[in-house]
Amino acid sequence: MHFLSTITGSFAQPADENPTVAMMEAAYAHHGLNARYLNCEVAPGDLADAVAGARAMGWVGFNCSIPHKLAVIPHLDRLAPSAQIIGAVNCVVRDGHDLVGHNTDGQGFLESVRTVIDPAGARVAVLGAGGAARAIAVELALAGAAEVVVVSRRPEPGRELAELISARTSATGRQAPWQGAWAVPSGLDLLVNATQVGLYPGGADLPAVDLDTLRPPLVVADVIPNPPTTALVAAARSRGLTALDGLGMLVNQGAVAVQLWTGVDPDRTVMRDRLAAIFADR
Ligand code: NDP
Repeated sequence: MHFLSTITGSFAQPADENPTVAMMEAAYAHHGLNARYLNCEVAPGDLADAVAGARAMGWVGFNCSIPHKLAVIPHLDRLAPSAQIIGAVNCVVRDGHDLVGHNTDGQGFLESVRTVIDPAGARVAVLGAGGAARAIAVELALAGAAEVVVVSRRPEPGRELAELISARTSATGRQAPWQGAWAVPSGLDLLVNATQVGLYPGGADLPAVDLDTLRPPLVVADVIPNPPTTALVAAARSRGLTALDGLGMLVNQGAVAVQLWTGVDPDRTVMRDRLAAIFADR
């Protein structure tokens, strides 16, 4: 008999609206793991104590969400290579006595994308230059993308991300200004919406893209998990394009975390079904 559970969780503020706990515990139950995921509301001023507590209690790891993705870094012992380049951590993994910062957002995205297109040699464009865009752009570049165009309405964050990609990966990074509807250049292989345009309750909103320039074989991917079928995903599919929803990315980033923490590669369908049921109830 064993009565000591494996402890994982999340530090965020606000935490109440985050359904990740339900998805993770569905995976733990499905695989018969004696593991718990504790969804914790942690204010910025309490983050150091929360990390020290997780260390003292032997948690195997935890997620960090808004507003802790940057602030957690000084409390960790080291960063995994992609988290180092991205400059943000959403998943902490205990390795012996060390706490190691990872970024599974980009890895989760990559796992989704690989089901439909090989990023190696691809020309990709990412709409937005925030946290999700950074994680996705860096992982695509590390996966061998030839060119990453960062489309941003404010030039500076886009330029900074494009320069980072050119300097730290084998891909060429380029910023493109975003005024009015962005026309997708011919020859682009993958277009990613990494802005929050389309997020519930704004599910009908479309990022400013010239829809007439969406033509196969372009693949479209959205980061928005709720609703899974955003107006952009629907528009792309109605034009015959392959389009990936953000629910897959959300499930995959959680699945990568479960694997890093427990060594078990979890069943994505169980996790996705749990989240889809929660979103359908809202
Ligand atoms: P940030 O605030 O860090 O970045 C948002 C980016 O979107 C900025 O570049 C911002 O530009 C841009 N943007 C916002 N509104 C518009 C608009 N109307 N037109 C053009 N650009 C716009 O947010 P995150 O990157 O952390 O999150 C973005 C989205 O990604 C969220 O909806 C989140 O839910 C989703 N996400 C999904 C994940 C998943 O697993 N599916 C994981 C992580 C995030 P500007 O600087 O000009 O405001």
